[in-house]
Formats: sequence, structure tokens, C-alpha cells
Amino acid sequence: MYNMRAEHLAAKADGGLLWHVLDRNGRALCGRVMNSKAISTADAAYDRDDYCTSCMNAVGHASSFDK
Ligand SMILES: [Zn+2]
Repeated sequence: MYNMRAEHLAAKADGGLLWHVLDRNGRALCGRVMNSKAISTADAAYDRDDYCTSCMNAVGHASSFDK
């Protein structure tokens, strides 16, 4: 079971989000250090968002993320 966390993309003025996957220690699978601007899933209400490729790849290697 993984948690997701969205990070505001500084490069996107429209408030786009980049979703990271967190391990049970609350660290992004890609090694990204999440700062205070990161928001939890419950607060996310954006239409446009992206998923962190590194995190997705990491999940892909962990079979436990299958539906
Ligand atoms: Zn990531």
C-alpha cells in the first residue's frame, strides 16, 4: 500500500501538481525530499497533474501496486 503526495510545480503558474509515491516511511520513491508545500491526496483538487516518472517506475518494479 502506497501513499501519494502531490507537489506544486514551481514551473507551472497554473498550479500544476506532480504526484509522488511515498513509501511507508513517508519518503518519495524517487528520493525527492518533500517540503512543506507538498500536499496530501485529500487536499488535491486540481485537474491538471502529472505523475513523477521515477516514482512510477519504482512502483512498477514493486508488484504490490497492482490493482
Ligand atoms: Zn517522485
